[in-house]
Amino acid sequence: MTQTKDYYATLDVARNASGEEIKKAYRRLAMKLHPDRNPDAKAAEHFKEINQAYEVLSDSKKRAAYDQFGHAGVDASMHGNAGAAFSDIFGDIFGDIFGGGGGRADQQAHMRGADLRYNLSLSLEQAVHGTTIEIRVPTLVSCKTCLGSGAKKGSQPSSCRTCGGMGQVRIQQGFFSIQQTCPTCQGEGKVISDPCLSCHGQGRVRDTKTLSVKVPAGIDNGDRIRLSGEGEAGHQSGPKGDLYVFIEIKPHSIFTREGKDLYCDAPINFTTAVMGGEIEIPTLGGEIKLKIPTETQSGKMFRLKGKGVPAIRGGIQGDLFCKIVVETPVNLTRRQKDLLLTFDRELNDGQNHSPKSSSWFSSVKKFFEGL
Ligand SMILES: [Zn+2]
Ligand SMILES: [Zn+2]
Repeated sequence: MTQTKDYYATLDVARNASGEEIKKAYRRLAMKLHPDRNPDAKAAEHFKEINQAYEVLSDSKKRAAYDQFGHAGVDASMHGNAGAAFSDIFGDIFGDIFGGGGGRADQQAHMRGADLRYNLSLSLEQAVHGTTIEIRVPTLVSCKTCLGSGAKKGSQPSSCRTCGGMGQVRIQQGFFSIQQTCPTCQGEGKVISDPCLSCHGQGRVRDTKTLSVKVPAGIDNGDRIRLSGEGEAGHQSGPKGDLYVFIEIKPHSIFTREGKDLYCDAPINFTTAVMGGEIEIPTLGGEIKLKIPTETQSGKMFRLKGKGVPAIRGGIQGDLFCKIVVETPVNLTRRQKDLLLTFDRELNDGQNHSPKSSSWFSSVKKFFEGL
């Protein structure tokens, strides 16, 4: 009996009541009905009810499940299976529920299927060139047996008798008459006396949908793609929610990306840095050759125009920035080391062969003189 009573009505709060309002209402009723203060058997029963209602409405996850699925969403009998599934879903994959802001009391909002979030991880190449990807989304789909109405085949939902199909009732509270969401139909104006067995009157069932997502070229980390109407099916033929695909780009072994531009390091050996030469540079469109001028210093940045990321909505393509890293030779033989020492002695010819370190040392000298 207590299972079927609307929790909002039990606590005497509106469906869009804040957490604070719910807490206050519960406290007020608990003070009045607590068995220590009120020995009436009816009060004890009522006390149990308000505790049950408070347990659900004070917990945002349970409250969301209750708002969406009614008692089925939080029924003690379902805690073992579906109850657990709901909390997983609300916590993880569907963590973000969009468009719920304050519209709880609105009938449309109540009937509308939830929006879903799907995190799609892409390689940099996929993001740059664009792709089409199949995703599998666990969701609620319209029940095929009752075509989403929630009523058993051949039967129809009937107009709610409590509220006469208005979805709202007036209740007397002291001198005041207050308009409230109908506790029988929970604001929907109709009740299903003969529920569909496949979906237990919900009009929708759990299933996994396979969808094809077209990813446009140039998409970036944090971008989202909205698939209108691909969210959860509405409650009892209500409108469908949307699916938001959030893009996450995996780190790349060579490139880092900043907006439309790509960055990479290009290691060259010490001889090429001195004498100049040509090196192969990877780009997302294949390898290209880069001319290294003579006397190239480590850290020099080369800009390869148009070798970055295509702009997502037309515009100009980004660039590839290639930073030269001169590598110190390792694993040298005795003879190689001797040649280097000979070379090093040859550098003492009165010429300036290290422009940066000479200007650096003179700055250091000035710095100490200044102290
Ligand atoms: Zn059904
Ligand atoms: Zn009603």
